Amino acid sequence: MNRSPLENKPLPPEDRVGYALVGLGKLTLNELVPAFRLSNCSKLTALVSDDREKALEIARGLGLEEKDVYDYADYDRLAERPDVNAVYIVLPNALHREYTERAARIGKHVLCEKPLATSPEDAETMVRACAEANRLLMTAYRMQYTPQLWAARDLIEKGDLGRLKFIEAVDGQTEDDPGAWRLKRDLAGGGALPDIGLYCLNTARFLTGEEPYEVFAYQYSTPGDERFKEVEEAVYWTMRFPSGAVAHCTCSYDVAEAKYLRAHGQKGWLSLDPAFSYEGLRLEVVTEEGREVRQMREEDQFRLEIDHFSECILGGKRPFTPGEEGVQDQRLMAAIYQSAAEGKPVRVERLEGKDLFRGAPPRRG
Ligand code: NDP
Repeated sequence: MNRSPLENKPLPPEDRVGYALVGLGKLTLNELVPAFRLSNCSKLTALVSDDREKALEIARGLGLEEKDVYDYADYDRLAERPDVNAVYIVLPNALHREYTERAARIGKHVLCEKPLATSPEDAETMVRACAEANRLLMTAYRMQYTPQLWAARDLIEKGDLGRLKFIEAVDGQTEDDPGAWRLKRDLAGGGALPDIGLYCLNTARFLTGEEPYEVFAYQYSTPGDERFKEVEEAVYWTMRFPSGAVAHCTCSYDVAEAKYLRAHGQKGWLSLDPAFSYEGLRLEVVTEEGREVRQMREEDQFRLEIDHFSECILGGKRPFTPGEEGVQDQRLMAAIYQSAAEGKPVRVERLEGKDLFRGAPPRRG
């Protein structure tokens, strides 16, 4: 690999970053495999799965061979594959740490799905493991690679809304399979908060560029609802930022789908509705000049995210959402749970400055 995609043009296959997809579940099959097909500088070179039949069928569709299909026990044999530069971990949350550490040990870069882990300690260990192995670790925060979220961030940054006062963010959906790993504490680490509330949390951090110094939370599970025996149904919380801005966030596993955000400034407001979906993000801006829906190009969010990581690997750059971004969100989620348990606000370390944990911004345009 000696070429870097200096322009937004597809690289020839031999120059692309090769990935092993680890875990062939819904996200992998419905979103990531199609995203790799659209990619400019990434390619799939291996699959890791416990379901060999399924994996072989997908491999055939991708033009891969039997030798390109691994299971979790022989994952470490990816070490022998120079055409696998990185792994993309798409497993239940509690498995992210083990597969990241094993990847680092065999010299692979790691793109890991969100939430990065199930505790701040595990997330920190993952960052350390990759740093010690001199490999890159990126948290797969697809939202932060979308033109719509960047346009919203630019509006706030340029002062078009006046001084930002508060953000309201909601991520709700129905989780109705009581057997789902997302409802098992040992695999998911929590309920609605780490799965979908995380979008409210890190989009508020992304739009302000700031770090909250205090959170105040309340959590709820409907009594007797079998689904929420191990993890919470809903969390409602507030975060205070050093500039004085406040974010009010809500996530729920028991409402009809709702995924929106509003940012209110002294002179106007913007809305993203939907804000966190895979497609169709709609940015509306209301200022003294009037009301406008921004017409923006639709891009595959996962393609943007994966190609950003590949560009970082090719160019030796720190990703925009590195492991440290995931660690900071784990710390804040731990503070949110603590606040809900204690029924009072919880302070976290007050950090001044912008984009403290982020790396090189993604390509724009
Ligand atoms: P799925 O349940 O659909 O897939 C998970 C896959 O992991 C399974 O199909 C299986 O693959 C493998 N697996 C290995 N061990 C286990 C186990 N003990 N229990 C269940 N599955 C296991 O989950 P998703 O694809 O929806 O989610 C995977 C990850 O992606 C999660 O971390 C989730 O938070 C994240 N995600 C991120 C999204 C985003 O927008 N960025 C959206 C959705 C999910 P196999 O049969 O091949 O071994």
